[in-house]
Amino acid sequence: MAEHIQVTRSLFDEVMVPNYAPANMIPVKGEGSRVWDQEGLEYVDFAGGIAVSSLGHCHPALVSALKSQADKLWHLSNVLTNEPALRLASKLVQHTFADKVFFANSGAEANEAAFKLARRWALDVHGEAKQEIISFSKSFHGRTFFTVTVGGQASYSDGFGPKPGAVMHAEFNNLDSVKALISDRTCAVVLEPIQGEGGIIPATQEFLQGIRELCDQHNALLVMDEVQTGVGRTGKLFAYMNYNVQPDILTSAKSLGGGFPIGAMLTTDAFAKHLKVGTHGSTYGGNPLGCAVAEAVLDTVNTPEVLDGVVAKERLFRQRLEAINETYQVFSEVRGKGMLLGAVLNERYQGRARDFLLAAADHRLMALVAGANVVRFAPSLVITEQDIHDGMDRFEQAVAQVVNAG
Ligand SMILES: *Cc1c(COP(=O)(O)O)cnc(C)c1O
Repeated sequence: MAEHIQVTRSLFDEVMVPNYAPANMIPVKGEGSRVWDQEGLEYVDFAGGIAVSSLGHCHPALVSALKSQADKLWHLSNVLTNEPALRLASKLVQHTFADKVFFANSGAEANEAAFKLARRWALDVHGEAKQEIISFSKSFHGRTFFTVTVGGQASYSDGFGPKPGAVMHAEFNNLDSVKALISDRTCAVVLEPIQGEGGIIPATQEFLQGIRELCDQHNALLVMDEVQTGVGRTGKLFAYMNYNVQPDILTSAKSLGGGFPIGAMLTTDAFAKHLKVGTHGSTYGGNPLGCAVAEAVLDTVNTPEVLDGVVAKERLFRQRLEAINETYQVFSEVRGKGMLLGAVLNERYQGRARDFLLAAADHRLMALVAGANVVRFAPSLVITEQDIHDGMDRFEQAVAQVVNAG
């Protein structure tokens, strides 16, 4: 018989590598935007993982897709293709700029594929001199060595030996800083339409349009990392649709699987053809389970009801946050779009986002931070009005706690 293990938070420190510092409570069950811990205490979920649980916990359509695929076929390898992957790819192509899709298991892997494709395309078409990648300070693209190097936080990429080269960083929303770096040696400009981990910083229309023009002038690919902003998060299927600026490569993950690991890289025929047979691959990428769930996510999210609902929920979030701020004066602004919002702490509360997060947890609300100065909300796209109100009541108590503690 299997040995019985007593599971407590202290077990984490005994058996897990210490690269995370999880909260003390251990969740055991979720339904919609509610989560219960081992003690049976109930939490309102304004975090959604980190912008992952796009349809809340255990959405019936996703549970059903997962269970029915689980009874049919789990794994084949990419020596064979499978029906869910082909259906999902068809739908992604049908509803975006893209003609072709590559599946991975995570955001970092989707970006890794995107960066490798950009480099390979540049080498094939323009030769060895064209290999520079321009990205932005504060950007986040994942934790593999290439993606932390492209990401704009040295603290994530330092301390692991020599980094992949020819990567440079400009300043987000500053077109002049890109003009100073871009040239015919640039193979790609990589950006998030809304910087997520960097603090929920939306690209301005002029910036994104300007980047597109610069990329066209210098024959560089525009890679949009929509791992956090994609699949309905901003009220459009992908955030680039808010700007009417088209990428050459787009990456998706997080919300795409609604909690099941999957990543995708989307591109056009002209670039896709450079990933010839054998140039790139993944054991699990495009596996039937992940693709079946993601297909159900896409079918559910990509409807006027859900996408327009995101816009309405954003209004409610902003109203409640503004009302809290009128009473307690803690935020300088609320930024972001749809169900990806950042409440930016004012002068007085600089560096204290984590205090608000911990106070929220005391009141059984799951929220997030994005850096030291921003409280981030990334709930389910279908969170109910009641759950928003209940969560905001709790958040108000949390804010009062921090303010009153001085
Ligand atoms: C989370 C995130 C990633 C990394 O995704 P993983 O699935 O953790 O590898 C990449 N880019 C952005 C913008 C993200 O928010």
